[in-house]
Amino acid sequence: MSGQIPCPDCGGIIVFDAHALLRGETFACAGCGASLGLARESVATVANAMAKLDALRKQGDGRRAPG
Ligand SMILES: [Zn+2]
Repeated sequence: MSGQIPCPDCGGIIVFDAHALLRGETFACAGCGASLGLARESVATVANAMAKLDALRKQGDGRRAPG
């Protein structure tokens, strides 16, 4: 699952993979090189939210959320 967020430094787009993010990988902004990563204490929270999202998607009648 990949996503994009605006860079907090330059406003560029940082493309990230949520699962890789949860594994502790970091992603760099192509524009300014700022790195994006999850704080260790945030990983559990985000993993939890993602699990719920995944469950919701599986419950949907074949409907797909964009992205
Ligand atoms: Zn940037």
